[in-house]
Amino acid sequence: MDLHRRERLALCPGSFDPITLGHEEIIRRALGFVDRVIVAVARHATQAKRGLFDVDERVAMIREVFADEPRVEAQAFDGLLVDFARRVGARLVVRGLRAVSDYEYEVQMALMNRALDPELETIFLPSAAEFSFLSSSLVREIAALGGDVTPFVSEPVRRRLRARFRRRDPDRPTDPTPTPGEPWRP
Ligand code: ADP
Repeated sequence: MDLHRRERLALCPGSFDPITLGHEEIIRRALGFVDRVIVAVARHATQAKRGLFDVDERVAMIREVFADEPRVEAQAFDGLLVDFARRVGARLVVRGLRAVSDYEYEVQMALMNRALDPELETIFLPSAAEFSFLSSSLVREIAALGGDVTPFVSEPVRRRLRARFRRRDPDRPTDPTPTPGEPWRP
């Protein structure tokens, strides 16, 4: 083993409000060609539009999801991604691409990051076909409307979504369509 080889570290940045199976798949694939991944949760993105979970909760969920994977860590960051990358010594950003609609924004951001720091490279991984329709915003909406998010998020995320919406609307039945004739159960 070459002990002097530089560790290959990638950043997977985003909002992760919350992390979905689509994100997880991209992060696990990145581990196929880097030594370590830092999932970087942007604080600034949440200032303009308040998210469902605060940034510390998003970080906590990512840590729960990757509890069995020591090569993945989660951190929140403020300010520019290029500054965070420099601080942690990362020169690679990995982003997932779902559809053509992601492309324009993603390339714009990659080019902007390269203009800010030519040493920071961005690579795109095409999303898995089964997750190409999946977004955090859809997961939030489904959970808010009482739908089952099991196919879209890991267990720790599902638990927190359930707790969140139960807290917001304590009167809503957990089963919105009780069988006729059955006593109503909260
Ligand atoms: P942002 O707010 O920057 O779009 P997101 O948390 O939505 O952050 O996404 C972070 C990264 O994960 C982005 O590269 C995004 O394209 C990618 N991503 C989001 N959803 C999926 C998915 N279902 N499959 C693959 N990649 C995804």
